[in-house]
Amino acid sequence: MEIIRIPKVMQETSRKFLREVKTIGFVPTMGALHEGHLSLVRRAKQDNHVAVVSIFVNPIQFGPTEDFERYPRDIEGDIEKLRKEDVDTIFMPDVSSMYPEGFSTYVEVVDISERLCGAFRPGHFKGVTTVVTKLLNIVKPKILYLGQKDYQQSVVIKRLLKDLDMDVDIVVCPTIREKDGLAMSSRNMYLDNEQRNAARIIYRCLIEASEIIKAGIKDGVYIKNIMFKKLKEEPLVSTIDYAGVYDPDTLVEINEIKKEILLAIALRIGNTRLIDNILLEINT
Ligand code: AMP
Repeated sequence: MEIIRIPKVMQETSRKFLREVKTIGFVPTMGALHEGHLSLVRRAKQDNHVAVVSIFVNPIQFGPTEDFERYPRDIEGDIEKLRKEDVDTIFMPDVSSMYPEGFSTYVEVVDISERLCGAFRPGHFKGVTTVVTKLLNIVKPKILYLGQKDYQQSVVIKRLLKDLDMDVDIVVCPTIREKDGLAMSSRNMYLDNEQRNAARIIYRCLIEASEIIKAGIKDGVYIKNIMFKKLKEEPLVSTIDYAGVYDPDTLVEINEIKKEILLAIALRIGNTRLIDNILLEINT
């Protein structure tokens, strides 16, 4: 397993893979790896000759009051996990090599980036689409692997690839959960025991809403109100950014439920912001 820190060296290595007619599967991450990340890595290995994983906590996708400085970092543990998965290459650039002095180009997907999380994290997706564009230009994958856990991110990146004619396929892998349903996330490490228990409310609320919908309720606003009521019953939930029923393509809130829908939640427990979602197909 090769560990590369310099973008130019990664580019050279990818060029060599391509000359050898090897397909590259790419998993971008911010590290502190868990089974959710590893599920993407396994899929990338399965589908391609070569799997490249990046570990980069991207400063430009964090707001000024967000957790960039204290974001969990576990480089040694991550390297060990990726070695066990038999990953070919880890790309681990430092901030100054990704954003050297004079850096002034940003890539922005408008509209869908401003919905859901974008409304509460201004500039977040601009940071994401900029770094993903850079990473794709550096790693040159055939297939990009993302998790459904960050559903909006996958929609925004699909739009980016389509609009800029980027020759990369995308695979969105299912959300990996703890036994009690909590979606795995590097940020779960911030939670103390009590908060960790409280966090179960998120998936429970998604499941409860989906059951009500499956029972025949078609009113999106009614479902949204039920979700808010349920989430507010948990005293350790400090803020609800959003909860409700959305169109999975446009991310616009849905009033009348039909066909495919996205149920999504973003909230804070203490200072920790957690997100989760499920997709639901309705037989009308
Ligand atoms: P992150 O390190 O949080 O930026 O995540 C890197 C990639 O892993 C993203 O595509 C995430 O959607 C994905 N991911 C994070 N958590 C999970 C999970 N619990 N299940 C599946 N994929 C995940």
